[in-house]
Amino acid sequence: MKRIEPKRVRVDFLVAGAGIAGLSAARTLADEGAEFLVLDEYPFLGGQYLRHREGYRPEDTRTRRSGFELLDWAAGREEFWTSSLIIGCYGDEGEKEVAVSREGEVVVIRPGKIIIATGARERYLPFPGWTLPGVLSVGAVQALIKTSGVLPGKEGIFAGTGPFLLAAAHEFREAGGKVLGIFELNPPGRLLPFLPDLLEWEKLREGTRYLLSLLGRIKFGWRAVRAEAKGEKVEVTLKKGNKRRKSTADFLAIGYGFSPNTELAQLCGCPVEYCPELGGFVVKTAEDLSCAPGIYASGEVTGIGGARKSMIEGRLAALSALGKRDPGLLKARERELSFARRLNTVFSVPLHLWREIPDETIICRCEDVRMGEIRRAVEEGFSLIRELKEATRVTMGNCQGRTCFPIITEYLRALGRRPEPMSVRPPLKPVEMGIFVREWNGLKIGHIGEGLPERGV
Ligand SMILES: Cc1cc2nc3c(=O)[nH]c(=O)nc-3n(C[C@H](O)[C@H](O)[C@H](O)COP(=O)(O)OP(=O)(O)OC[C@H]3O[C@@H](n4cnc5c(N)ncnc54)[C@H](O)[C@@H]3O)c2cc1C
Repeated sequence: MKRIEPKRVRVDFLVAGAGIAGLSAARTLADEGAEFLVLDEYPFLGGQYLRHREGYRPEDTRTRRSGFELLDWAAGREEFWTSSLIIGCYGDEGEKEVAVSREGEVVVIRPGKIIIATGARERYLPFPGWTLPGVLSVGAVQALIKTSGVLPGKEGIFAGTGPFLLAAAHEFREAGGKVLGIFELNPPGRLLPFLPDLLEWEKLREGTRYLLSLLGRIKFGWRAVRAEAKGEKVEVTLKKGNKRRKSTADFLAIGYGFSPNTELAQLCGCPVEYCPELGGFVVKTAEDLSCAPGIYASGEVTGIGGARKSMIEGRLAALSALGKRDPGLLKARERELSFARRLNTVFSVPLHLWREIPDETIICRCEDVRMGEIRRAVEEGFSLIRELKEATRVTMGNCQGRTCFPIITEYLRALGRRPEPMSVRPPLKPVEMGIFVREWNGLKIGHIGEGLPERGV
C-alpha cells in the first residue's frame, strides 16, 4: 500500500478568485514586486463581470475598461491558475494549507497570506415552477450571451428585483432577443432613495442606456408567482396586489440580487455576520479588510456592491497584506459601501413574501425538498438550519446549500428568527471520488476521508 503525496507549493501571497477583485489584488501585488499565485475554478479569468467571448468585449463603462486592462495584463502569466478549485483550507494561524483540485490531482498551497475574492452567487424568491427548464436565472441568460453568443430563446420575460434585471434584459435585446416585459417586484416609490446614486455620471449613462432601450417594457410592483410548461414555451403568472396576468414566452429569467460566497473565508477561520443591507451573510473585516491573521477579504464577499467596489477592495486588500495604507482608497471604499447599502435595501424582497411561498414550491432543488415540508418542520419546533437539515435534508444536496440556504435564512427571518450562518466543511464543492480517496487522503488531514480504506495505487 502506497500513499500518493500531493504536490506542495509555497507562495508569499495566495489570491483566491480571479474576478475583478482578485485581478486588482494581483496587479497591486505585482506592482509592489511581491510573489503571488491566483487561483480560479473557472477555465477563464475575469469572474462574472469580465466574462466575454472572442470578438465580444463591451467596454461600456470606465470600470469595465479598467477591468479588461487587468485581464490583458494577466493573460498568459504563469501566476494565474485557471480550472483550479479550492476545496479546503486547514492548519493553524500563519500555517494555513490550501487544498486545490487541479488537473485531476490535489495540489497543496502553503501561502504566507491569503486574499479571498470568491465573489457572489444569485439569489431567488421561489415559486411553483421555478425549477422548470424554461426558467433560468438572469445570470445564466447573461452568461450564455456573453460567453457563447447564444440566446435562450427569441422572446423572454425578466422578473425579480434590482438593476441586474435591466442589464441582462438590455444585453438580451442588443443580442437580437425580444423582451416581452421586465417585472420589477418593488414599486417605483420604494426606489426613490436610489435616485441620487444615478446622478453620478457613469451610473447615469448606464441607467439611461438601459431605460431608453427598454422603454415601456418595465412594469413595477409585479412578481412571477407561477411558471408552467406550454409545449416548448413557458407560461408565467404574474401578480401585483390582487391583480394577476399571464404571459407566455420562450423563457422566464429570474433574479433577486446576489449573495456573497463566504464559504472559503469561513473555512479559513474568518467570521461572518448577517447584513441584509449588504446581501446577507458577509465576511466581517476590519477597516484594512483583514478578517483573520494573515487573511484578507475583498469584493462581493464583504458585501454586494458591484464591480467598482470589488476593484477598489482588491487593491486595498493587497496593500494591507503588504503592510501599506492608502487613505484615498479607504474613502473611495466607504463611498462604494454606502452605495451598496442603498442598493441592497432598495432592491430587497419584502419579508412577508418569504412567508407566502406556497407549500408545493421546491426549495432545495438538489434534494427536492418543498416549502410545505420546511413549514411543517418549523411548526414542529425544528427552527435552526442545522435542525431543518436533519428533519428535511434541505441544504444537504450537491450544491451544499448555495441556492436554498439564503432562501431558508430569509424565511426564518420572516418568522422572526435570528439568522445563523451555515456550517462549512471541505470539500467546498463536489470533487471526483478519485481525488477524495487517493490524493486527498494523502494530505493526512485528520477528519477528511478518515476511516476510508487506504488503497494501493
Ligand atoms: C451570475 C452573475 C453575473 C453578474 N454579472 C454582472 C454584470 O454583468 N455586471 C455587474 O456590474 N455585475 C455583475 N455581477 C455582480 C458581480 O459579482 C460583480 O460586479 C463583480 O463581478 C464582482 O467581482 P468579484 O471579483 O468580487 O467576484 P467574481 O467576479 O464573482 O469573481 C469571483 C471568482 O472567484 C472564483 N471562485 C469562487 N470560489 C472559488 C473556489 N473555491 N476556488 C477557486 N475559485 C473560486 C470564481 O470562479 C470567480 O471567478 C454578476 C454576479 C453574478 C453572480
